[in-house]
Amino acid sequence: MRKEELLENYKSVEERVCAACKRAGRDRSEVTLISVSKTKPIEDLNVIYEAGSRNFGENKVQELTGKIEEMPKDIDWHMIGHLQRNKVKYIVDKVKLIHSVDSYRLAEEINIQAKKKGVVVPILIEVNAAEETTKFGVRLDEAKQLCEEVSHLDAIHVMGLMTIAPNVVVPEENREIFHKIKELSVDIANQNIDNVDMRILSMGMTNDFEVAIEEGATHVRVGTAIFGERNYNL
Ligand SMILES: *Cc1c(COP(=O)(O)O)cnc(C)c1O
Repeated sequence: MRKEELLENYKSVEERVCAACKRAGRDRSEVTLISVSKTKPIEDLNVIYEAGSRNFGENKVQELTGKIEEMPKDIDWHMIGHLQRNKVKYIVDKVKLIHSVDSYRLAEEINIQAKKKGVVVPILIEVNAAEETTKFGVRLDEAKQLCEEVSHLDAIHVMGLMTIAPNVVVPEENREIFHKIKELSVDIANQNIDNVDMRILSMGMTNDFEVAIEEGATHVRVGTAIFGERNYNL
């Protein structure tokens, strides 16, 4: 995509994030805008980096590690896609946050690899809020239990919840789901589980990030509105 167009997109998303924060009576600093750069070339990432973004999200391990190599070192990288256990070792000490933990077995593997590298890895529990069969993530009523189960793994640290809301035409349709996830996170926080924190809520994408911010998202993951449509057939 052309540089001016990318800059314009980024600026416009940033303005919309600011406006949503304002409507919700929240400070802009409470929300991290993650630029989701999957399938996009390094040149495009560099433009968005120059525009000021220091948080990038990827959903595939190989693409993520490749881009980490090529991009400046002061970027916080977010693993937002489904993660296979055999690939954990490649990213465990390279990412700021793993958003997509949805099983004890995956958490356990992250814990093992984190220990080998001598790091503690911040993770989120992915919740399949609408209980769509096509999506990863635990059910709403399973999230608390998974938090409890993983709480004794001492090389990971649960920082909150992540959800991918349904792909709807009208963003308002997802408000209730975001609200439910926020409630769930407050509920889990009130349990005071050792080593489990609920300070992060990763929800909201191109279609619905403003509603998500109004409902309490601390991290929004925006791809298309910044980088343009993705072409998977290249
Ligand atoms: C691709 C992706 C996004 C960004 O989606 P857009 O609709 O392009 O903003 C956000 N979160 C996850 C988990 C993704 O895989």
